[in-house]
Parts: sequence; structure tokens; C-alpha cells
Amino acid sequence: MSSTPKVSASSSNSASKTRVYKIVILGEGGVGKSALVIQFVSHRFTDYHDPTIEDAYTQQARIDGEPAKLDILDTAGQLEFTTMREQYMRHGEGFIICYSITDRRSFDEVLAHKNLIDRVRCHENIPIIVTGNKCDLEQKRKVSTEEGMHLAEQLGAPFFETSAVLRQCVDDVFHGIVREIRKKEHEEYV
Ligand code: GDP
Ligand code: MG
Repeated sequence: MSSTPKVSASSSNSASKTRVYKIVILGEGGVGKSALVIQFVSHRFTDYHDPTIEDAYTQQARIDGEPAKLDILDTAGQLEFTTMREQYMRHGEGFIICYSITDRRSFDEVLAHKNLIDRVRCHENIPIIVTGNKCDLEQKRKVSTEEGMHLAEQLGAPFFETSAVLRQCVDDVFHGIVREIRKKEHEEYV
């Protein structure tokens, strides 16, 4: 027995059908995770965002002609797992690992985040994107573009250098992770 679910007057047909993509952004504290998420969702740059806040954001987008609802967890740097973070780590479909091009330690931490994903997800082939943020601060650069590209290639992930200040490549990163998730689904169903 199957019946078409009724759509309430307040929700449009297309909105109720929009596929939700669960995305997690990881990276060392201070690399600009919150700034990137807020820039993507609200089109503004926030100079200060409480580093201890871990929060989820949603954003509708049209990516390659198909609607998508991005459900993004902006993680805070604490090592212990909060309940929300654990849920997202277990159910996240795509991960954005972010470092700052001005901070080599944050770059060195990218692998640790990848290892954490592998551990939690038992080496499932999870879509990942690597992002070198703060590329507007060229004069303070400590990690070259080539190093970023090379690391991303090792992880089998697309790579972007972003600036949350300039809104540079911000959409590319969030749309890119949806594309990676779709690509994986497509590969699984053919
Ligand atoms: P998070 O701890 O990874 O969430 O980092 P935040 O988003 O809180 O950003 C940390 C600091 O870096 C803040 O002072 C931001 O204003 C700054 N910031 C974030 N993104 C950029 C960027 O693309 N360029 C520059 N110049 N500063 C940034
Ligand atoms: Mg933050």
C-alpha cells in the first residue's frame, strides 16, 4: 500500500522533494571554518565568531541544475566528541577539511582529520574536499598552493584555495562537496 504523502499548504512541492546533503566542516581552530560557512549561507564576512560554538546551518542551492539542501555542521575545535558532532561524523555524507594558508600547523593537521574520518567511518570511501583558506593574506602565506594540491591529490580530494573575506571560491567548495557526493552515488548505482 502506497499513498502519496500530502503536502501541507506552507511547504512547496519542490522544497519537500529537495535532497538533503549532510556536510561537516573540519579543521584546526582559527582557520576560518565559521567564516566560510557564514559567508556561504549569509553572504557576509564575520570577523569574530565564538570559537567554541558548534552549530548546524542549512542552505538551499541549485547545483548543476538540480536543487540541493545543504545541512552543514560547523565544528568547533574541541577534541572530545559532543553528541551532535558524533552524530554528524557518523552520518555526514561529505567532509570539508580546512586549513589556513598562513598556518603550517593547520596544514599538518589535515591528515589527522582525514584519519579521524577514516576511523569513525571504518574506511568507507567518504567524499572529501580540501580547502586552503585565507588566500587573501598572500604576504603571510606559509603553505604553497602546490603543497595543498599535492596533499589533496594524495587524499583523492578536489582542492580549492578560498577567502572568506573576499568570498573567493566559497561556493565552489560547498557546491563541490555536493558534486562529490552525487558522483559517488552515481558510481554506486551504475
Ligand atoms: P574557525 O575557528 O575555524 O571557525 O575560524 P573563524 O571563522 O572563527 O575565523 C578565525 C579568524 O580568522 C577570525 O578572526 C576571522 O575573521 C579570520 N578569517 C576567517 N577567514 C578568513 C579569510 O578568508 N581571510 C582572512 N584574512 N581572515 C579570515
Ligand atoms: Mg568556528
